[in-house]
Formats: sequence, C-alpha cells, structure tokens
Amino acid sequence: MPAKDGGICRVKLPGGLLTSAQARAVAAVARTHASGVLELTNRSNLQIRGVREACQGALVQQLLDAGLGPRHADADDVRNVLISPAAGRDPGAHLDTRPLAEQLLALLQDVPAFRDLSPKFAVQLDGGEALAMLDHPHDIWLSALPGGTQLAFGLAGCPRGEVLGVVESDQAVQLVEALLRLFLQLAGEHTRMRQLLAELPAQAFLARLPSAFQHATPGFASPAPDGVPLGVHAQAQPGRVMLLAGAPLGRLQTEQLQALAELAETEGSGELRLTPWQGVLLPDVPAARQAAVAQVMSDLGLLLDARAPLARMLACSGSAGCAKSAADTKADAQRLATHLGPHGPAQVHLCGCPRSCAAAHIAPYTLLAQPGGRYDLYRREQGLAGFGRLLATSLDIDQAGEHLAAGNPE
Ligand code: SF4
Repeated sequence: MPAKDGGICRVKLPGGLLTSAQARAVAAVARTHASGVLELTNRSNLQIRGVREACQGALVQQLLDAGLGPRHADADDVRNVLISPAAGRDPGAHLDTRPLAEQLLALLQDVPAFRDLSPKFAVQLDGGEALAMLDHPHDIWLSALPGGTQLAFGLAGCPRGEVLGVVESDQAVQLVEALLRLFLQLAGEHTRMRQLLAELPAQAFLARLPSAFQHATPGFASPAPDGVPLGVHAQAQPGRVMLLAGAPLGRLQTEQLQALAELAETEGSGELRLTPWQGVLLPDVPAARQAAVAQVMSDLGLLLDARAPLARMLACSGSAGCAKSAADTKADAQRLATHLGPHGPAQVHLCGCPRSCAAAHIAPYTLLAQPGGRYDLYRREQGLAGFGRLLATSLDIDQAGEHLAAGNPE
C-alpha cells in the first residue's frame, strides 16, 4: 500500500507467531529494501514501512521464502483469525486454541468463496487465557468453556458480548464455515457482520443455520483483563515464564527485532508472539532468568511496566506517514508522555483524523488532531457515540498534557 513515507507491506502472522528465523528475515528486508521502521498492529500482525518502489518484488519474495505468505497467492487478505498471544502457554486457559486457529486459517484460505470477505472481516478465538484482548470487536467470536470441549460463540462483538450458542470444539470449524457462507449469501453490499445485523437480528440470522448449530446458551461472560498486562507472567510449563513487552507507540526498529530474535534463541524457544497491544511476548524463558531477560528487553527500549506513560499511549502514523493527518501524532505522543507520570490517565489515543487507525476500540481519552496541528480532547463515556464527551478544543500538545496530568481533564 502506498503511504507518504513509502510503501507499506503488511505481513500477517498466524496467531501472531514469528519465529526467530522469520524475525531475522523481516529485519533484513526492512533494512535492505525499506526504511527500517516496523509497526506492530492491533491484530498481532506487522507492517514494514518505507518500502522503496524498486524493491517491492524482492521484498515480497524474501518474505515468502521465510514462510510468511498465505497458502494461496490471492488468499492473503482473509487470514484474520485472532488468538491470545499466550495460547498454549497460559496456565489458566481452558483450551490451547492454536490447532483450531490453524484449521480456521486453512478454511479461510482454501475456500475460494471466502476471498470475497472484506480484508477486515475477522474471527476471534478465545481459549480463556488471562492474557487476552477481549474488547477487540470481531465479526465472529468463539470462546472456550471450562473443560475445553465446548465453545460459546457470538457475532459482531467479543467474548463479553451476547452469547448466541454453544458448539462442540470438534464442530467449531463446520460452524464457522456455515456462518461465513450464510454471511456471504445474505450480506449484499455489507462487508462486516455488524452492518448486516443492523438490518437482520442475530437470532433471525442464526435461524437460517443448520439446526445442529442452534442451541442458545445465555449467561456466559468471560472476565476482561484490566489494561495492558505488561511484565512477567507465569506459564503452564513448569519453570518457565513469558515476558510481555510493549513497543513504544507500536513501532520497532530492525535492530530491536534482530535483538529480540537473538533473545528468543538464547533465552527462550526461538518463538516470538506479537500481541494485540502492539507489543511482543517472549515465551519459554527459564524462571531463573526472568530478571536478566527483562533487563535486556528494557535496555532495548521496550516497555515492561504498564505505568510508563508511553505504555499508555497510542498514536497513528501521523503527518510523517499519512497524508490525511493534521498533526505529527507520533512526535506529539512522545512529548505528551513527558507531561504524564505513572498515575496519569489509563490510555490516551492521538488520532491524526477521525478514521482512528491505531485502535479498534475507543480509548479512555482521545486527542483528535485539528487543522494546524492542535487537538480536541475527548473522554470516553458510556452511552455517548464516537470518541465520547468533548472536554476541550484546539489544545496544543503541551496544553493537552497539562489537562491530562491534572487528573481530571475537565
Ligand atoms: S487515523 Fe487518519 S491520519 Fe491517522 S493514519 Fe489513519 S488515516 Fe492517517
């Protein structure tokens, strides 16, 4: 995709998994053929920014050689199955979702009809992990129930939303296939499930499914973790821990990715998992090494403390990378962070325009850029659409920092 700072190449990662060899390959192509800036997305994928036009073919070929492509050349866009970065490692999970996620990814890629789905159409698969982004809205979601033999499912939402039914785990692929085929049959001009359900109630939609999938079970609610759980986490595997780190403003340099690949090889199992919080999970670290590894990650410039102001900040590409942006949101976020201490607002999102690319959810506070590089400040409020209540208009970034640092930006 073209952008102001060169081409952007989005690399979709199955379940957010990036092996150390793949991480080295990404770092190498980004250094050789692009600007060296990598972006981590809120769907646990990555983007290589600043791709030089003459290098596009070589860059894509080297990524394919590293095993980072789809099963079929025209099936890249549909690879949207989201799982917890801690899948298969979380000690409290009901189900290791990775095998099912693999089957769902194969289904999406192998059925030619599913290439008509929007590139944003996504399936969320929750194994009951503590490390999960449950408020990320998707078109279809499934969430494992205790015991792991059944999954609750719903549409156009997330595992804290309305449960429409329960399916046996070994029937989940068939259910998703039936839901996808039905969606495509009924969608018309609509590209996302929520648009269709605005016209056709969910129960009416489900009533058209084969009867095997029509057992409603209300009342299930999966607990939502609070904030981004950066730091060290216990693992199901004895003697091992996983470290969850944030990438400041969702970006990594190639040197950082290269160093993470080395760390995964020397201290872990050679695996990195990208997270929906625009960061990295390093699993399988010996518990005795956790402090040393955390120090190395911190020295690399990664964020392991959720109280760090930059760990609570989101910013889109801004005017340096996007022609639509009215402000340099990344640079302004860095400056804003200097105003905020460890007890500042839960999360601030700097948007260059109302498209809100950097977040799938509404953040507690949003700074929306206005012509001239100033910002309007909003606070999320239940019942209010859009970014929430407008608290102040036309602030420069220092004034915005003073408002937010005051604790009560009203
Ligand atoms: S939110 Fe707007 S300005 Fe920011 S990257 Fe997206 S389209 Fe560009």
